[in-house]
Amino acid sequence: LIEQKNHETVLDINLDAILHNFKFHRSRMNPDTKIICMVKADAYGSGSEEVAKILQYHKCDYFAVAIAEEGVVLRKAGIKTPIIVLNPEVSGFNQLFESYLEPEVYNFRILDAFIKEAQRRGISDFPIHIKMDTGMHRLGFAEEDIPLLLERLRSQQALKVKSTFSHLAASESWAFDDFTTQQISLFKKLASALQDGLDYPIWRHILNSAGIERFPEEQMDMVRLGISLYGISASGLDGLRNVCTLKTTILQIKHLKKGETVGYGRRGDLDHDASIATIRIGYADGLSRQFGNRNGHVLVNGHLVPIIGNICMDLSMIEITGLDIKEGDEVILFGDELSVIDQAKKINTIPYEVLTSVSSRVRRIYF
Ligand code: PLP
Repeated sequence: LIEQKNHETVLDINLDAILHNFKFHRSRMNPDTKIICMVKADAYGSGSEEVAKILQYHKCDYFAVAIAEEGVVLRKAGIKTPIIVLNPEVSGFNQLFESYLEPEVYNFRILDAFIKEAQRRGISDFPIHIKMDTGMHRLGFAEEDIPLLLERLRSQQALKVKSTFSHLAASESWAFDDFTTQQISLFKKLASALQDGLDYPIWRHILNSAGIERFPEEQMDMVRLGISLYGISASGLDGLRNVCTLKTTILQIKHLKKGETVGYGRRGDLDHDASIATIRIGYADGLSRQFGNRNGHVLVNGHLVPIIGNICMDLSMIEITGLDIKEGDEVILFGDELSVIDQAKKINTIPYEVLTSVSSRVRRIYF
């Protein structure tokens, strides 16, 4: 009897490796620096509940998600660790209050609406995190906003600033180190101005993974650990372990003649007799169509083989001519020996996109 799991498309998630990466960074930080583990976008595709549970057990200080719904999922799973919601909207305020999720406050629109709602509920000292824009130019208050921001904050008791932070635009890029340094010094100035205007202490943080790897001396009170937790170093740092392996199986093998074509649009044309294997993964599983037409490769029994023709919604074809490969064999799309970083480069994107593209119908298996 062939086991069911042998015929599935799965994302294997190595929780030991996540823990290793977490402890690795923990050991590089000052003991009292707090680590915010980024579990947004379903923990970069790895499954936020499972990842958060193990990290909570191992005393991660904070979690961060992008939207309120992601925080609610974690609370329902029993996560008690504080959670920051990075991109809150007014429509998600109920969830923030009900699940005790701490919003990033990035402009006056959100600040005023949040104060009003907290006051309506009779709440005091609800924790918020003030985002400063130091050059990313995405979300956040500017330097000139600080006087009014302080006025607003001081004239109410509903909210209490727990931290202020900013985001680096190019911490992974040596070519932009001057810019990164400028961002960091501007942030320190803005954070001091904010702190000086408040009569209670607030934490400061600016480092993301590449920042943590490259500028540990700027760890301040907290750091925000994302992609590096999932085993991918933007700066080439040694010591991390791969977390995710995307794999599927071969459904059918065909032996075709020179001149025949494979797949939609007849794009897979053969200039030699060839063996073609059809694998059970397609763009609806998160395998980008850009890997098609010999641009991408997969690993089968240790052989790196090309993807032939267009990637279909649920299936793809690979060429296995002359290799000892049979129906049912396992096919690796990325993992220990075929890195997400290299696969991402193939299609001119970043590992983040490859990881977060793995769709929900791909079963996650934890070990
Ligand atoms: N901080 C903020 C505000 C972010 O948006 C992100 C991710 O996009 C991170 C930290 C984590 O970044 P990384 O995964 O590069 O560590």
